[in-house]
Amino acid sequence: MLKERFIPLMIPDIQQQDIDALTDVLRSGMLIQGKKVEEFEHSIANYLNVKHAIAISNGTATLHLALLAYGIGKGDEVIVPAFSYIATANVVELVGATPIFVDIDRSTFNINTDLLELAITSKTKAIIPVHEFGLACNISEICEIAKKHELIVIEDAACALGAKENDRFAGTFGQIGSFSFHPRKAITSGEGGMLVTNDDDLAKKIRILRNHGIDMIDGKMEFVDAGYNYRMTDFQAALVHSQLKRLPDILDYKRGLSEIYFEDLGSNANLSLPYAAANKVHTWQSFHILLNDTIDRDQFFIKMNEHQIGVNYGAQCMPSQIFFKKKYKLNVEAMFPNALNAYKQGVVLPLYEKLNSDDLHYIAATINSLLT
Ligand SMILES: *Cc1c(COP(=O)(O)O)cnc(C)c1O
Repeated sequence: MLKERFIPLMIPDIQQQDIDALTDVLRSGMLIQGKKVEEFEHSIANYLNVKHAIAISNGTATLHLALLAYGIGKGDEVIVPAFSYIATANVVELVGATPIFVDIDRSTFNINTDLLELAITSKTKAIIPVHEFGLACNISEICEIAKKHELIVIEDAACALGAKENDRFAGTFGQIGSFSFHPRKAITSGEGGMLVTNDDDLAKKIRILRNHGIDMIDGKMEFVDAGYNYRMTDFQAALVHSQLKRLPDILDYKRGLSEIYFEDLGSNANLSLPYAAANKVHTWQSFHILLNDTIDRDQFFIKMNEHQIGVNYGAQCMPSQIFFKKKYKLNVEAMFPNALNAYKQGVVLPLYEKLNSDDLHYIAATINSLLT
């Protein structure tokens, strides 16, 4: 029973009211950062229960600003998981610092906290833990380690708006949390990001850096720093703000769909399913499975495509990518076996609001027929 239509890996669910919110802004003529950005920032700050939410042009720029605001640069080391979207390590390079990769845990795809402390040196300034695929990493434990060694924690929560550890939102544990509204995330502005913090001075600095180094002094616009243009536009803010109202429903719906995969794929011995501890809330930004080593993953991708199903790998083993491989010449196989395995054998399955339970049963049945 082949599907007539192709099921893409992801389609964002943009509804009429979201489009109306965006076109209202277009008609107003106010196209750059303004009131709509500010309103969106307030809603995110309320939702996450943080003092400051600062909208940024995308998630990568958000991480970049976080490092800049702390003056992290040449000679400094920043710890990152070996397995993430490449931006997590690229931003460390952008400020001239050195990324120190740490292998992940094979069942959660998040940084292995046992290995984390071993990577800390006298040069370490910060840790960028990633809540990979929307599952909160062991962030309380990471913050304790960071505190002991006086390190800054910048949470890459790009996939994790709504994720929790022990009833507290991912992105609100460290000094800074960074979110993305790329179309592959739960709610989207096309390109977009959000930086959150409870630190007043830091928030001020970031607002200045975001907008050309502009500060208001005695009611006068002054250029106090060599800043960036990392602003979000008002129409992007209106588009994503409209979706934010549905976020709890979106997360519930995706959780429901994820249960179908767990049920239908649970007895397939050729793959392993993602694991989330009981004290975590997963956003299911990606449903990431791991194929056994004996299975040719790329061949599996081709077969899934033939059955009208879009799939992809989940994230990069960053130290094995050309730039990092050439620059640091690390022994990836020996140092990051789990990151490498997840990169080579990982598969992200479709899971979003536009799919229903029949679609999920079809996808799971196809997998079970291909992997027997
Ligand atoms: C999506 C993503 C980013 C980058 O966000 P952009 O908004 O696309 O720049 C960074 N880190 C992780 C873990 C991501 O998933």
